[in-house]
Amino acid sequence: MNLLDVFKELNTEAKCLAFLEHMRWPDGVKCLACESQRITRITAKGKLNKKTNRRSPDRELYQCNECRKQFTATDGTVYHDTHLPLSKWFLAIALITESKKGISANQLKRALSVQYRTAWYLAHRIRKAMVEANPSKLGGTVEVDETYIGGKHRGNRGKFLNKEVVMGVRQRGGDLRLIHIEAPTVQNLGQQIKEHVDPKVETVVTDEWQAYPAAMIMAGIHSRKHKTIRHRDKVYVMGDVHTNTVESAFSLFKRGETGAFHKVSLKHLQRYLNEFSFRFNNRKSPDLFGMTVQRMALAGNLPYATLIEENAFTPFITPK
Ligand SMILES: [Zn+2]
Repeated sequence: MNLLDVFKELNTEAKCLAFLEHMRWPDGVKCLACESQRITRITAKGKLNKKTNRRSPDRELYQCNECRKQFTATDGTVYHDTHLPLSKWFLAIALITESKKGISANQLKRALSVQYRTAWYLAHRIRKAMVEANPSKLGGTVEVDETYIGGKHRGNRGKFLNKEVVMGVRQRGGDLRLIHIEAPTVQNLGQQIKEHVDPKVETVVTDEWQAYPAAMIMAGIHSRKHKTIRHRDKVYVMGDVHTNTVESAFSLFKRGETGAFHKVSLKHLQRYLNEFSFRFNNRKSPDLFGMTVQRMALAGNLPYATLIEENAFTPFITPK
């Protein structure tokens, strides 16, 4: 589904609920308590508020024929506990999954006609679902590089104090990982290379930064597999030894980071990086929208308090 399909096909709450039901239980509705598939659908009439003389909307419920539990398609999901209609959730997901560079809370606020805080919180909960669930280790030819984000000065190494360091690891012709690290030390680089690169990799290409050789040893990668490109001497491409594909991902991220987010707050940077690489890695997926709706139905909620208290260096994989 693309943005236009979402507009046209998911324009009523009933249609959205049916879609969510299908994505959450592709093999048929299951009881949340006992997993029975013997379910009866019931429509609970909205209650009349005597003061305003208004009736709340009817609710579509399932009742389990085994244990009698009543539940809805949104119960226990991130879509629950929100006054936002599902049609707005879905529109937000479509906007975020389709924009190449990401979308700001302000843009979302205008598109959905909601408050800024609602849009911001919504975007973060969608972002939470946009994480590789079980990222495989990268192999073949892998490029590793770092870039600097934020801060006022054009920095280079040694001047990263007021900038955030983002490490990029990309398999040529394959997936990308973007990781927010505190500083490009042997310890940090080595740990992330170990986390994301298969030791059976053919080649790892980096620039001449002095921390890389020791980082490779730490990650269990043999020194003969490590090829270095000397940026200092303006030798950017030596045949196959280059870091151009990870650099092109950095530049796309930066266009979004400065264009759409203005100021990516430090403690949420990893979420933006996850969102970006998820979209990047799934760009050929025929239904990124449906996939994200489904992940959000299966993942737990993200309480507002947790979100604002998060540490700046959130692990790459958000624990469930
Ligand atoms: Zn049951």
